Formats: sequence, structure tokens, C-alpha cells
Amino acid sequence: MRLRFAPSPTGHLHIGGARTALFNFLLARRHGGVFVLRIEDTDRARSRPEYEEEILRDLRWLSLDWDEGPGVGGSRGPYHQMQRLDHYGPYIDQLLAEGKAYRCNCSAERIQQGREALQAAGRKPMYDRHCRDLDLGPDCGEHVVRLKVPLEGSTAFDDHVRGRVEIDNAEIDDFVIRRSNGLPPYNFVVVVDDHEMGITHVVRGEDHINNTPKQVLIYRALGWEPPEFAHAPLILGPDGSRLSKRHGAVSVGAYREEGYLPEALVNYLVRLGWSHGDDEVFSLDELISVFSLDGITKAGGRWDVDKLRWLNQVWMKRLDPADLAERARPFLVAAGADPALIDDRLVPAVLTVRERARTLVELGEQARFYFVPDDALDWDEQAVKKHIKASTRPILDGLLAVLEGVEDWSQEGLEAAVKPWVEAEGIKLGKVAQPVRVSLTGKGVGPGLWEMLAAIGREVALRRIRAGRDKAAAREAAAGR
Ligand code: GLU
Repeated sequence: MRLRFAPSPTGHLHIGGARTALFNFLLARRHGGVFVLRIEDTDRARSRPEYEEEILRDLRWLSLDWDEGPGVGGSRGPYHQMQRLDHYGPYIDQLLAEGKAYRCNCSAERIQQGREALQAAGRKPMYDRHCRDLDLGPDCGEHVVRLKVPLEGSTAFDDHVRGRVEIDNAEIDDFVIRRSNGLPPYNFVVVVDDHEMGITHVVRGEDHINNTPKQVLIYRALGWEPPEFAHAPLILGPDGSRLSKRHGAVSVGAYREEGYLPEALVNYLVRLGWSHGDDEVFSLDELISVFSLDGITKAGGRWDVDKLRWLNQVWMKRLDPADLAERARPFLVAAGADPALIDDRLVPAVLTVRERARTLVELGEQARFYFVPDDALDWDEQAVKKHIKASTRPILDGLLAVLEGVEDWSQEGLEAAVKPWVEAEGIKLGKVAQPVRVSLTGKGVGPGLWEMLAAIGREVALRRIRAGRDKAAAREAAAGR
């Protein structure tokens, strides 16, 4: 099997494009086939090298590596359409010589009149085939080349998702296969490229399904066997209309920046148009062993950011902690952590917030307090007022006395040292935990007491609790005045 993803570098890699790439990649990997990346850059006005770079970067980030294409090479290149322009002309000449295509020099007005006449006669408005049998030569002035679509019969293909798709040839225009500027349009170019690249399966979005009969006609005219087709359903927005910018971020890059893991995005994307029983969580390797065209659904999935967030947390918990910590590092810095303070406390720190964070952005914000100078803590004044009071001072003094003597500064060691003291003093644990949490983090909500104390380390913990004690003492003094 040879499959391809053929993006146009006219914008960012979209969610829908990434899903198409994923489906093709998975099929190629599942069946020991080849995954080709082809850049369809013939739209000179809109194509940009930056977009191409971004698309390659995002595909690599998703681990959708290609076997042939830009940066990799391959025997069926070039893989940029702009470098293939000399491939198309000979086939058009062949069709002209065989009488399967014809030159048309109709003016735009003539074409319009023809359409209107057809419409007035109650027929589908299309090119009226004025030049079809005129046998115009290359010297007929400014002209296009059109395919001679059979006047009778129908064109059909068996789509792996939609089933048999059949359309009366009478409904198909004698469409242009070479523009007056000499360049062939998408439908022609894609057929030549897919054929020359030996593509056996074309898997793409349903938005292309109307092009497929025209492409099948071109295959037949050139005497080639068409590939197999599968048109995946469009991804829908939460309101059921086609997913678009007005529903929020639609580019892969935006989700990376929002702190989603590529594992989660791949997992989420595959389920928008494919299912395997009720299973929800799949790694790329698991997908490679179960993915098949039969699982592609007719109905498109709706974009559901809560589900994506859920899957992202699932994946944050599945990652090896050291790996998660490294991926969290840039997000911590973006949240204001001081890179110089990020030391070997990183892994335990990240683990203390993993349960409550759904993205790396949230993880970075929640773990920030571990790695900032004390005076850069983000204070929640309400929480300070509520939990660092005059009555807190003796509690923190007592706790400090216990903590200063702790030798095993681990979750277990801390718990074993502090619990007996709390019980002996008859203090509720919350009366200790909240002032400690506020002293360490600046806030009234945060990780569990023992894991947080262990992760932040003895030195910072004692320093911040002493500062909390001093604040409480100041309030005590103010109250006593
Ligand atoms: N360049 C086309 C697109 O981005 C590819 C269409 C196809 O897969 O045939 O939509």
C-alpha cells in the first residue's frame, strides 16, 4: 500500500488535515506500506514556505513521520508540485492526440451565454461544449484544454466509507484540464501525481468527494486504474456545523501552545471519524495495530474540548514522570518560574500537580510556586487573611520545631514526624495544612500537604514557613496593641 498526505502550504496545519495525515500514516504503518508527503504548492498567491515548514514541524511533533517527501527524498519525487510542472504537459498532449480532450477558445461571455441558454431550457447550467467537436489546433488563440466527458453512462467508484458513489456523466462538465496560462488545475495534477507516485489508496476528507468522479474520468482517459478511495467525514464544531475558526483554535500549533500533548491530540483526532468498539484511549502503537478503513465512520465527530482535556490528563498520567517533567519545563518558565531554580525537584513537583492539571499550561501555572524566588509568589490576599492569623503563630512555631528535627524529608518521613505532634497537641490537621499551604504557595488551594512539603525540599519549606510564621506574629502583635 502506498498512501499520501498532500497538504497545500497556504495556512497552518489544521485539525482536519492532521486527522487525514494520521489516517494515512496509520494505514501505511499497519500494512507495512509507504507514507508519502507531497506538497501541493501550485497556488502561488497563497503558498508560503513558512507554512510548509510549520506543516512539517507539526507532523513531526505528532510523530507522523513520512517515508518519502520533503527532507526525506524518495524515488518517486520531486515531492513539491512546483517542481513537477514538466510532468503534466505530455499527458495533456496525449489526451489531445487521442481525441479525449479538446481545445476551447470560448470567451467568458460566450461560456456564460451557453450556461444561461442551458438553464433556460431547464437543464443543468454548465459549459455547453461549443468547441467539443471543432478540433481546434494550438494556434486557435488564447484557449484552455477541456476533457471530453462521455455524454452517456455514468462514472462510479466504491468508496470505503460512503459505499458506491455514482454520478451520471451528463451531470459532469467538460472541465478544464489546462488553463490558458498553461497550468493544469488541481484535479488533473493530483491524478498525475498520485499515479506517478504509485498511490494505491487515497484517503482524504469528504470535502473532496465531489472531485473524485472527475479524477476517475481522468484516470480512465489516461488508461490508468484509479486507486481505492476513502473519504472521511468532516469534523464538526460543537453546534454541528463544519469545524471552523469561529469555534476556536483549529490549528495543531495552537493546541501545542495551549499545552496539549501530541499523544493526546492524536488519540483525540483518531476518534473524530473512526471507532473501535467503545475504546477511547490509544497510543500511536496501539492504533497502528488496530486501525482499519472499515472503522471510519460515516458521521463526523463533534469537537469536544472537554474530552480533549480529559484525554490530555490521561496522557499526562501515562507519561513517564521524567518525560512529563521535561515537557512541562518550558510551560513552567512561561508561567514565570525561574529557570535557574528548576533543579532536581522538578519531577516530584510536577507529580504533585498532575492530578489537577489538564494541560501543560495548567501544570506550569500550578507548579510555578516551587521554582520562583519567595518574593515572586503570587499571593492570594484573601487566603492569607483567612489562614495566617494571630492564632496561627503558635501552630507554625510548634510545627517548625518538629520540622527542624525531621531527618527523613520524604512524604512518609514528614507524615510520621508531624502526625504524632498534631495528635498530641489536639490540633486539627487542617489548622496546620492551610497555613503551610498558603506560606508555601501563596494560595489556599494546592497539592496535598505531605507531597508538597517533600517536593519543595527542606530548605525552601522551612524558609517559607518561617516567613509565614513572621506574618502571623505581626498580626498577633497588631491585635495585641
Ligand atoms: N492539496 C489538497 C488539499 O489540501 C489535497 C487534496 C487531496 O488529498 O487530493 O486539500
